[in-house]
Amino acid sequence: MMNSIVTKFGGSSLADAGQFSKVRDILQMDAARIYIIPSAPGRRFPKDDKITDLLYRCHAQQSAGEDYQATFALISDRYLTIARELSLQVDIASALEEVNRNIAAGAGADYCASRGEYLCGMLLADYLGWQFVDSAEVICFDEHGTFLSEETNAAMAARLQDGAPSVIPGFYGALPDGTVHTFSRGGSDITGAIVARAVNAEIYENWTDVSGFLMADPRVVENPREIRALTYKELRELSYMGASVLHEDAMFPVHKAGIPTVIKNTNNPTHPGTIISVNLPTDPGVPTITGIAGHKGFSVISVEKAMMNTEIGFGRRLLKVLEDFNISFEHTPTGIDTMCVVVSGESLAPCREQVIARIMEDTEPDTLTIHDSMAIIATVGRGMVHNCGTAARLFSAMSQAGVNVRMIDQGSSELSIIVGVDDKDLETTVRAIYHAFVA
Ligand code: ASP
Repeated sequence: MMNSIVTKFGGSSLADAGQFSKVRDILQMDAARIYIIPSAPGRRFPKDDKITDLLYRCHAQQSAGEDYQATFALISDRYLTIARELSLQVDIASALEEVNRNIAAGAGADYCASRGEYLCGMLLADYLGWQFVDSAEVICFDEHGTFLSEETNAAMAARLQDGAPSVIPGFYGALPDGTVHTFSRGGSDITGAIVARAVNAEIYENWTDVSGFLMADPRVVENPREIRALTYKELRELSYMGASVLHEDAMFPVHKAGIPTVIKNTNNPTHPGTIISVNLPTDPGVPTITGIAGHKGFSVISVEKAMMNTEIGFGRRLLKVLEDFNISFEHTPTGIDTMCVVVSGESLAPCREQVIARIMEDTEPDTLTIHDSMAIIATVGRGMVHNCGTAARLFSAMSQAGVNVRMIDQGSSELSIIVGVDDKDLETTVRAIYHAFVA
């Protein structure tokens, strides 16, 4: 449906009856908002339980032969209270009983977890008077649990083609035999993006409890500026480092379809939030940097061998070892006789000795060293293309802050400059770079 808006609401936006009514107000503010993707009710206050966590707990307790009814009662109470406070007609008590029976009968973890969104969708459909579309019928995975994007797109588009306002619960779909299967945690964002693509929405709105992205982690930089607009590619460079408000995989369907995503705050709906688009101008007026994201705990495997540059297949042999151990690599800075591979320390830890032995065997290097505890910081900005001296500014800020640079890498897109520093220097570095570019 051209001109329609797909709205996804996160768990805190649907945590209780008061939040439900904010959601209805938001929907009523724009008649184009005709598709809603709910998460499961989240936390109402910091120490509160998320429904999804409680459902996983029920499953774990049941599987361990423990009594899970006390946990289930917490879940029932949340849904029954919302239904009562909003005077809903839907028979949520029977739906809860059915879920309870299925858990008792040994239903899988994915089924159990998915009921958070399913039941929340039932309440919302009743509250809004909209149709309920069970995601198990329209979101398809193959028998190994791999998401089938094209089948899903076709099924979703066909199901929603009449343009009726619809509630489509987030987070889950089904395997070919009908068994419920979920995305990874936070996956309702993905469902929203899938629906946006299928209906060719004008915009995908992701409503949460923050007013969009910030230029840097607020725990590191005091009061960082908000990011008003960025491209999907910039976000990819930033979220890849773990600074995400949005599930990583939610970018792909909308990016592919050329649909912008807007991050909005349910508790502050008039705030413009952050818009993520496919293309944005890169004229000289654009700020040089869009954001900075950093992550600790990387290890650098450094291999040195005389005449490496003439040894055909050296890189492949080195990377093949990591592939065989199922370790993904982040960067591969190289020199004439050296090759480094940056991997997460966590992924290396369980097989460190075997990896070293295999590299020695397969590449016969002169030396092999591993440096641990490296932080990687990505400074990202489409404005870098037009601005001279960005690298000079960044590195002089780091040297003034007394930080030693352990690695430098620039993405081939000229969209980011990546530096490696000691874990202990991450915060100092992010602050130094931020202040070098933001007045
Ligand atoms: N309820 C699921 C979770 O907590 C999915 C989501 O909220 O997006 O991970």
